[in-house]
Amino acid sequence: MKKDEIYEIIIEDIGNDGEGIGHIKIDGSENGFTVFVKDAVVGDTVRVKLIKVKKTYAYGRLMEIIRPSEYRVEPICTNARRCGGCAIMQMDYEKQKEYKWNKVKDCLERIGGIADAGKLMEPIIGMEVPYNYRNKMQFPVGLDKDGNIRIGFYAGRTHSIIDMEECHIGHPVNTPIVKHLRKWLTDRQGKNGDYIYNEITGKGLVRHILTRVGFATGELMVCMVINGDRLCGKDKKNAKVYNDSLIECLSKAVEDFNSSIKCKEDEICNSNKLEKIKLTSVSININKENTNKILGDKCVTIYGQDYITDYIGENAFCISPLSFYQVNPTQTKVLYDKAIEYANLKGDEIVWDMYCGIGTISLSLARAAKKVYGVEIVPQAIEDAKNNAKKNNIANVGFFCGKAEEVVPAYMKGELSSGRISDSVSEDLSGRTPDVVVVDPPRKGCDSILLDTIEMMAPKRLVYVSCDPATLARDVKIMGEKGYKVSKVAVVDQFCHSTHVETVCLLSRKAPV
Ligand code: SAH
Repeated sequence: MKKDEIYEIIIEDIGNDGEGIGHIKIDGSENGFTVFVKDAVVGDTVRVKLIKVKKTYAYGRLMEIIRPSEYRVEPICTNARRCGGCAIMQMDYEKQKEYKWNKVKDCLERIGGIADAGKLMEPIIGMEVPYNYRNKMQFPVGLDKDGNIRIGFYAGRTHSIIDMEECHIGHPVNTPIVKHLRKWLTDRQGKNGDYIYNEITGKGLVRHILTRVGFATGELMVCMVINGDRLCGKDKKNAKVYNDSLIECLSKAVEDFNSSIKCKEDEICNSNKLEKIKLTSVSININKENTNKILGDKCVTIYGQDYITDYIGENAFCISPLSFYQVNPTQTKVLYDKAIEYANLKGDEIVWDMYCGIGTISLSLARAAKKVYGVEIVPQAIEDAKNNAKKNNIANVGFFCGKAEEVVPAYMKGELSSGRISDSVSEDLSGRTPDVVVVDPPRKGCDSILLDTIEMMAPKRLVYVSCDPATLARDVKIMGEKGYKVSKVAVVDQFCHSTHVETVCLLSRKAPV
């Protein structure tokens, strides 16, 4: 096999990143030579050009679809193939769900060592309308080589910006916002040649636009990320003019959106339950570093409040531009409800919520438990968690800030001095013998010291919420050796059209022999 050679292959399987997998048949060999093909759908017959050839496999570029698969659909988005966002939008939604369910099953069997994992798994919970689900968007802003403004998304694995007209997984208010901002920024760039940030030179002002919508409240936040302290840049005497005109521009975009839902009320409101949008918070975020990190540490509000409010179930949450908040509110509720169901609380239980973020799971559990302890590494998130507890009048929660694998063992040994944790929660020792532990770690999974500590705490049930089935399966295997058995698994599709999948897994302590 050589680079640039062209072959016709049948796509037989789906890879980890949603790519198609096929084989070039070689005389005499049983399996053939494996080729990974981005944008190919299982069942397609395709012509591919080899672009990178390794010893045992190659990457091929999709040149032509000779016979489309029965699972292939026309993506609703014209940019789907170029954009890095929706890797499997060309796959029928039913097939996407089947793929994700199988991905979890395969990890649990192969890595977790669980025979017949499918028998423990519930059917995947998908979205009725798998579009317009994201409450947060981050649009990079830049100039193309002809000096035209681009606002949209990075093309897969690059920093070249694809101009966005409409993104079908985001909230539809983003369409008029981007349209109006494109005009606003073009006018400013015309007057002042370096208004748009240039990643290579590090010069220019406007870098990113961040938007967030509270789906339950209709509150909208817009935050402009800039390489400077003010929107007016060097034109300091006109600071107010710049701020006022931005707010006018955004208000106009919101007005356009609200009047458009009025004319199509039945159609949109019924299918997507859209609320009228209220412009609630406009801010700038200052990021003068030449890095890939989108947000800097400082935000200045120029209109309305510093935050928007949203609800998950009956709990209200304040969300500022820098807060972590789940991006698919509809499916987050579904995910948390599963975690609550698996926790099976009667009201007198002691519960831990490890990796608690801003306390969303802790507060959902607290209404049904005696006491919930949360632990999280980001100090601002813990501040938010405490404020959210107060806002919802929930008193039976206590939060620790630090690494779970350090804080929880220290708490168990009675080594948490009140100097380190400025909270009376460290003196309340009932958390040493919890009934239920919930973990919701980042993709790398739980630290092994934390798993050892959980073994020592000996909860009856461990509810594992995971965004990466491979590390979930690894940890499930470790907990299996510690006497915990997987009894139920739920798979929730939070990120439709991407390859990501969320899993909730219930592990129960085996009865001692
Ligand atoms: N349960 C929350 C957050 C889950 S995301 C929710 O549903 O919204 C995972 C969280 O783990 C993040 O908030 C991250 O900051 C935190 N985290 C990462 N490493 C950690 C560690 N070693 N100890 C405690 N928290 C950690």
